[in-house]
Amino acid sequence: MPSAALPPIEYRIRPAHPGAHLFEVSCTVRDPDPAGQVFRLPAWIPGSYMIREFARNIVSLRAEVDGQPWRVEKLDKHSWRAAPLRAGGTLSLHYEVYAWDLSVRAAHLDETHGFFNGTSVFLAVEGRTDRACLVDIERPEGAGYRDWKVATALPLARGVRGAARPYGFGVYRAADYDELIDHPVEMGTFTLGHFEAAGVTHDIVLTGRHDCDLGRLAEDLRRVCEWQIALFGAPPPMDYYAFLTMVVGDGYGGLEHRASTALLCSRADLPWKGMEGLPDGYKTFLGLCSHEYFHTWNVKRIKPAAFTPYDLTQENYTRLLWAFEGFTSYYDDLALVRSGVITPDDYLGLLGKTVSNVLKGNGRTKQSVAESSFDAWTKYYRQDENAPNAIVSYYAKGALVALALDLQLRAGSDGNKSLDDVMRLLWLRHGQTGQGVAETGLFEAVREVGGDTLGPKLARWLQKTVEGTDDLPLARLLKGFGIEYHAEPASKAPWLGVKLAAGNGEAKLANVFDGGPAQAAGLSAGDVLVALDGLKVGSKSLDDMLLRRRPGDAVKLHVFRRDELMSFSVVLAEAPADKVRLKPAIKAGAVASKLRRGWLDGAA
Ligand SMILES: [Zn+2]
Repeated sequence: MPSAALPPIEYRIRPAHPGAHLFEVSCTVRDPDPAGQVFRLPAWIPGSYMIREFARNIVSLRAEVDGQPWRVEKLDKHSWRAAPLRAGGTLSLHYEVYAWDLSVRAAHLDETHGFFNGTSVFLAVEGRTDRACLVDIERPEGAGYRDWKVATALPLARGVRGAARPYGFGVYRAADYDELIDHPVEMGTFTLGHFEAAGVTHDIVLTGRHDCDLGRLAEDLRRVCEWQIALFGAPPPMDYYAFLTMVVGDGYGGLEHRASTALLCSRADLPWKGMEGLPDGYKTFLGLCSHEYFHTWNVKRIKPAAFTPYDLTQENYTRLLWAFEGFTSYYDDLALVRSGVITPDDYLGLLGKTVSNVLKGNGRTKQSVAESSFDAWTKYYRQDENAPNAIVSYYAKGALVALALDLQLRAGSDGNKSLDDVMRLLWLRHGQTGQGVAETGLFEAVREVGGDTLGPKLARWLQKTVEGTDDLPLARLLKGFGIEYHAEPASKAPWLGVKLAAGNGEAKLANVFDGGPAQAAGLSAGDVLVALDGLKVGSKSLDDMLLRRRPGDAVKLHVFRRDELMSFSVVLAEAPADKVRLKPAIKAGAVASKLRRGWLDGAA
């Protein structure tokens, strides 16, 4: 029997108690496994590589068969099994999910709005995850919710009773469980903006108070999206796209999905009417949107073989996140300049910051980006105070690997080949076929794009680079594109080798850097500095006090550790030159100028 003829799995979700942050969910199976149907909630959400055990937010659960109570037992932290059902019948699970995680990864519900990812609320029906799913999204009860609407890339369930209308409550449909959990849902009184890119409707959905200039944002995003679509080739692989954005006082985050993204942003980062220039915060927000949009191709469709299919019960290991997150991080800002939304000078400023971020931590000398990818679950996603000394970011260094690769492909082919060709090859071979990318797949793609002479050399370079810890030869490569690389200390003050925690004025050490004066003297993360040479010190005054000293000077620091006053003698050092500025060379040769134009001005 074709699976289309098998009964769909029916879900119902009701924001039952917004004040208590509870969704009521039911999952109905018309032909459950007679030996005892198993249900399971994912342990993680694709795109965010950490075991989160979403089932811990299920606060109560019961089963019914044809409306009568039925026995159900818990098998492990995220699985349940209904008692055997030899005689057949319709099995329903009813459960409540606590939703108070203000992030893009889980679920959130109060009297102002509701948001959920399917991974937090929809139990998978074991053995039936390839079934079509119908989801009835219900409006909360009460007069206060009459104006609520729904925003999601979940397709409307046409032709069934109670089918939702655009932006409405009612029944939606997914082809299978994998699709069901890849369309987050926002509900409330959000603001809506629209634009078309390559003929596809894109919605901007803003939840939370804001004074956003939606016209400006829509126009800028349209250009970025058009550029990305053109890079891979129109039409785009989705027929609708939504930027589901939660606006807060201070926040930042994004998670990619096949036809939408969930974003968290700071109110101040949105553009406003009358805004002059391009504030850094707005560039940050555009970069975030661009990043998640690029994932529509790179990781949602061009996927590591390790993710085809995802195993949602445990860690899925790949050494390739430098390609899926790092290359995406390279293209996020690059798409802004190539689409003309920011200037080449703006772009070089952003790139300089990425280079500086990588140079700041000694972790880059201990961990390769391939290792960082593999260990994302326990290291990158679970950073502690020692992270800068132990971990390299596969995002930031992965972006620099992409940059170095792109520059070498361009320089080695007189501007005829670039990383764009690698991305298009991956799209053709993997994105369009659903064939996962093998762990060596990137090296092979680079070999093929580079051709007979350049290809093997660059493929070897790439493998050595992502498996090693050497710094990238960016100063040399950028010079060939007429760009100067300047590295200098981030501050004129002598170096203590610490980073302070953000906070209330107290000088609390967040990180103590490897090889720095503070570490040598015995200071630790968590210590609260209270005095420097006998004078009170706080987070605001520390740098000013250090500015009056010189490298080689000894200072006495008093700190509280475990509420005990301790004193340390620290010999200040020369600050490392880890702040990088990139700027166009005043005089660049014709070859370099042409390469630079091809890189930063070229249309896809
Ligand atoms: Zn990403």
